[in-house]
Amino acid sequence: MIALARSQAMKSFMQNNRSTTALAKRYVGGANAVEAMDCAVRLAEQGISSSFFYLGEYVDSPKLVEQNINALQSLINLIEKAPIEGNISVDPTQVGCSIDWNSGAAAFRPLCKALKKAVNSRPGAHCIMIDMEDHSVVGQTVDLHNALSDEGFPVALTLQAYLRRTADDLVSVIARGGRVRLVKGAFVAGGNIAYVGERAVKANYYRLIDLMLSKEARDNDFCPVFGTHDHEIHAYVIEKAAEMGWSKGSYEFEMLYGARDDVAADLARRGEAIRLYLPFGSDWWPYAIRRIGENPKNLMLLMRSLL
Ligand SMILES: Cc1cc2nc3c(=O)[nH]c(=O)nc-3n(C[C@H](O)[C@H](O)[C@H](O)COP(=O)(O)OP(=O)(O)OC[C@H]3O[C@@H](n4cnc5c(N)ncnc54)[C@H](O)[C@@H]3O)c2cc1C
Repeated sequence: MIALARSQAMKSFMQNNRSTTALAKRYVGGANAVEAMDCAVRLAEQGISSSFFYLGEYVDSPKLVEQNINALQSLINLIEKAPIEGNISVDPTQVGCSIDWNSGAAAFRPLCKALKKAVNSRPGAHCIMIDMEDHSVVGQTVDLHNALSDEGFPVALTLQAYLRRTADDLVSVIARGGRVRLVKGAFVAGGNIAYVGERAVKANYYRLIDLMLSKEARDNDFCPVFGTHDHEIHAYVIEKAAEMGWSKGSYEFEMLYGARDDVAADLARRGEAIRLYLPFGSDWWPYAIRRIGENPKNLMLLMRSLL
């Protein structure tokens, strides 16, 4: 899937092919920030929050990095004027970390600063949510989050249940009263550093939920976000949160826009806080092909649109 996502020829064919727009429309909130904002406003009317994500992945040149940063700045300018939470997901590689970690990390600072200024003292879960990439950059990403948080910037961290180190990372962010989005992890690694296989990853996810909904987490004003489409996990979180005294709305579920909208709408109807990861931009193929990997039913959607 990663090879397909990175194939320039495939990307160009798919993104310029009118017949594949069904796939793009399902998973992408708009071709640009204005369309994504309209989409987020529509979702907000249904009681669903958004985390914007600009589609510009696997960048390998400073020019593309600059393009990504400009797109994020334009989004922040719109957030300033819109009645919407400033919640933006950013991949470290998107802003140049895979070219040079330090200059990529430095690019987060002006974005955080601009977001902080844009939302000013408006209430809401405003933050730059740092997405987590493969295990080789997890330590640096956690350090980046902690440094930005120490400087008082609105920043949050994605952690992955497949990694053995995640319990320790989580405990450290709980201690600082941060905000963590827990996902299973879109990567695999060896048994020395990772849990291998769906069952083992899910078992660790449950252990991490217990930490995220612990009394210590609540006392520290920690914000738990559960990034998963797994309904068994949703049910466990709801039960555990009630047992530990977390009110609905003090923790969140986050899913991908277009992945399980029925489940999201049902949870929202039941009074749960729901956020959708809302990608936008024209460079949608690498993102869509990863969604196909997560759910083979999406392959049918792609095949039908091509026939
Ligand atoms: C908001 C959010 C942010 C994420 N950020 C990161 C990140 O920063 N780093 C990272 O490594 N990973 C990230 N992921 C991906 C994550 O790690 C998993 O790979 C992905 O969510 C699949 O695991 P799951 O628990 O959602 O569902 P699974 O256990 O894979 O599946 C549960 C059910 O949901 C269905 N389902 C799952 N995905 C889809 C889909 N795309 N379309 C339709 N149905 C689907 C399955 O068919 C199944 O019925 C993120 C996921 C979400 C939801």
